[in-house]
Amino acid sequence: MDEKEETTLAVGIPAGRLKSFAVETRDDSFSNELRKRICDYLTDFQLRYDEKEPDIVISVGGDGTMLQAFHRYVHRLNDTSFVGVHTGHLGFYADWTAAEVEKLVISIARNSFKIVEYPLLQVAVSYTDGNKEASYLALNECTVRSAEGLLAAEVLIREEKFETFRGDGLCFSTPTGSTAYNKGLAGAIIHPSLASIQLAEIASINNRVYRTLGSPVILPKHHHCQVRPVTDERFNVTIDHLSTLHHHVRQIEFVVAREKIRFARFRPFPFWRRVRDSFIG
Ligand code: NAP
Ligand code: MN
Repeated sequence: MDEKEETTLAVGIPAGRLKSFAVETRDDSFSNELRKRICDYLTDFQLRYDEKEPDIVISVGGDGTMLQAFHRYVHRLNDTSFVGVHTGHLGFYADWTAAEVEKLVISIARNSFKIVEYPLLQVAVSYTDGNKEASYLALNECTVRSAEGLLAAEVLIREEKFETFRGDGLCFSTPTGSTAYNKGLAGAIIHPSLASIQLAEIASINNRVYRTLGSPVILPKHHHCQVRPVTDERFNVTIDHLSTLHHHVRQIEFVVAREKIRFARFRPFPFWRRVRDSFIG
């Protein structure tokens, strides 16, 4: 059943299509040693190490390493697929163990595989001072906080005022990011075949003066959500593990991105099994 769910998104790729590769590591000694073995094996199999234009990127470390890999190759998502090896605990983006790298390397070099595409979040920040709009893609989530103290912001859905938020912040996550920060905010776990974004509140103030919905909201594709300042136009914005302070913000817009991330699947990696194994045991 789970495998069938995944194959609804999957495209079959015949063996021998992957010609070049790159390895992203967490940069600890064990991950780096593993990188060296992967590089040796794959070059023995006549694949080319190409940090600039890899057909496949192997992330060695944790889920955070996959976030790093994603942002390094975010400009070529149509030409690069990703696969993850975990050197710590089981990851959501890293399903291969260190003990399995030989098997993985042979699969990369010799076997047919499937590409599964997962939705991303697009974030567009526009400014009041004439600065050009800044646009980002997130694999996990984007959070919005104030530069200092409480965040006060208008939340609009499809250009229509929804609520005035007061609290620590807002978290917009992708389906694959729903198991990360979003989960800590009591957001729902979303299957990645549902192209959607989830808005979860970070410690909202709710009393007789201030009122927010209080529940996480899941928006379908094409339902844009906007966040606008009430007074302070400075916002602290995180995109996955990266954080930036933006000045003179007019609006931040969130929508399911047109771009997707492609994972190379050499064997099934059912989402609900991952959820169970990570959180229930
Ligand atoms: P980190 O501090 O190492 O990450 C925190 C934890 O989140 C790590 O255990 C990481 O796994 C895990 N994680 C990352 N993506 C995940 C996913 N899609 N599903 C389930 N767990 C996931 O920093 P990082 O590795 O650079 O990761 C950045 C992420 O941390 C952010 O995108 C955000 O989701 C998360 N975060 C969570 C909270 C919270 O829950 N209160 C607060 C801030 C940030 P690995 O150990 O395998 O890397
Ligand atoms: Mn990490």
